[in-house]
Amino acid sequence: MSSINQVTVLGTGILGAQIIFQTAFKGFHVTTYDISDDLITQAKQSFSHLAEVYLKELPGTTRTATQATLDRISTTSDLSQACKEADLIIETAPEIIELKQKLYAQIASLAPEHAILATNSSTLLPSTLAPSTGRQDRFIALHFANTIWIHNTAEIMGTDQTSRQTKDKVIEFAKNIGMVPIVLNKEKSGYVLNSLLIPLLNAAGFLVSEGYADPETVDKTWKIATDSPLGPFEIYDVVGLKTAYNIIATAGKAGDEKSARLSQYIKENYLDKGKFGIASGEGFYKY
Ligand code: NAD
Repeated sequence: MSSINQVTVLGTGILGAQIIFQTAFKGFHVTTYDISDDLITQAKQSFSHLAEVYLKELPGTTRTATQATLDRISTTSDLSQACKEADLIIETAPEIIELKQKLYAQIASLAPEHAILATNSSTLLPSTLAPSTGRQDRFIALHFANTIWIHNTAEIMGTDQTSRQTKDKVIEFAKNIGMVPIVLNKEKSGYVLNSLLIPLLNAAGFLVSEGYADPETVDKTWKIATDSPLGPFEIYDVVGLKTAYNIIATAGKAGDEKSARLSQYIKENYLDKGKFGIASGEGFYKY
């Protein structure tokens, strides 16, 4: 089984930049692609910023290590150049199904025959993208968490067409870049983490928006009774209230009345007052 040496990442946005930097930090040469030279310039700034973050937040990181990391990253806005030598292509393009399908149809003819394609999509099931890849046995979801250098899970989820060999190679790769592989047996929207987290955050939100308890009481209960370091509302503030609102409002629009009331509650009491969570200095709590 030939292992993965040459890695390409398509998309250099929030998650793309993190995956690129982490993979290079762990010794891989990474080719990165974005759709314009301006975005490539921005990406280089993101990599330099991540170098500073790693120095600050990862004990033991040296400037020599971060410089060597930057030297292992190459950039291009030419898709064919990006794909041609890859053993693994990780796609981190925007969460728009038609855009991803079109991209996979292009990669299908540009990537080497043996290359594995992996999507970092948070919400699309890999089976909705697999037919566009032209290599369903070598296509899989490899889903990273934001702030990858600290929250180092890699959720790995195949379709029923993904081969065992593809799964094994991707598990090995995830370990090689310092991730803890979280392997699903079959497709599930939300993978493991969001399948657990979203119902918890919803339940906490309903307790508050329906008037049963305040956020501090809910968090205190959860933390004392389960030894968890954070309560649900502290987690809301980390995730960001705009993202939380979007998810809950979607459920509300689909006809769930409690979700409609919760999304309205978050909008009126937080979003409309500029309280977006930790990133804005205030959400359910002040920072
Ligand atoms: P983003 O908008 O920050 O980045 C997307 C990048 O893709 C941009 O640099 C954009 O220029 C580029 N792009 C646009 N069209 C492209 C194309 N045709 N080919 C290649 N690249 C293209 O988005 P993001 O937050 O990094 O999310 C990217 C993917 O990662 C999504 O599927 C998302 O669901 C997933 N994800 C995001 C997070 C998160 O916290 N942001 C966490 C896990 C997974």
